[in-house]
Amino acid sequence: ALKITDECINCDVCAPECPNGAISQGEETYVIDPNLCTECVGHYETSQCVEVCPVDCIIKDPDHQETEEELRAKYERLIGGG
Ligand code: SF4
Repeated sequence: ALKITDECINCDVCAPECPNGAISQGEETYVIDPNLCTECVGHYETSQCVEVCPVDCIIKDPDHQETEEELRAKYERLIGGG
């Protein structure tokens, strides 16, 4: 999964771009739900939030490191509804 750092300026550019609806406004900054984030695997070649963030504050979440295969499996689960 990806993670938004505290550099976030709460611009709301990233949330509408997320195909998984994983991004929402948190208490201090925008946040990514690691259970929903596939890093855009299954949807796009690149992580869309990373592409659009004006301050480059979206990184790989060190606490939720996943392989391409794991991300794809998550994508399959999410679209399968289970
Ligand atoms: Fe924060 Fe970047 Fe998303 Fe803007 S695009 S809300 S700065 S994470």
